[in-house]
Amino acid sequence: MSAVSDHIYGYNERGNLVYNKYCYTKATANGTANIIIWRCREYRRLKCRATIKTKNKELCAIRGSHTHEAKNYGKIIAPFLTTSM
Ligand SMILES: [Zn+2]
Repeated sequence: MSAVSDHIYGYNERGNLVYNKYCYTKATANGTANIIIWRCREYRRLKCRATIKTKNKELCAIRGSHTHEAKNYGKIIAPFLTTSM
């Protein structure tokens, strides 16, 4: 089994979503359905249209492609770890 370790999915210390070395900020959230739409951090600056949809902290849709290179955003916190321990 080869792990897809390049496709890291988690959150950074600011609470942004990080997936595959791209960083996303929260665009819209539907609290009752637990669905969040995340927009690429470079949406404004580079007009990047990539978005990610998560439901219950699981990725369920990836749309668009990035207009820029991926970056290393440093420490990523896995979504399944709770911070309230
Ligand atoms: Zn992007």
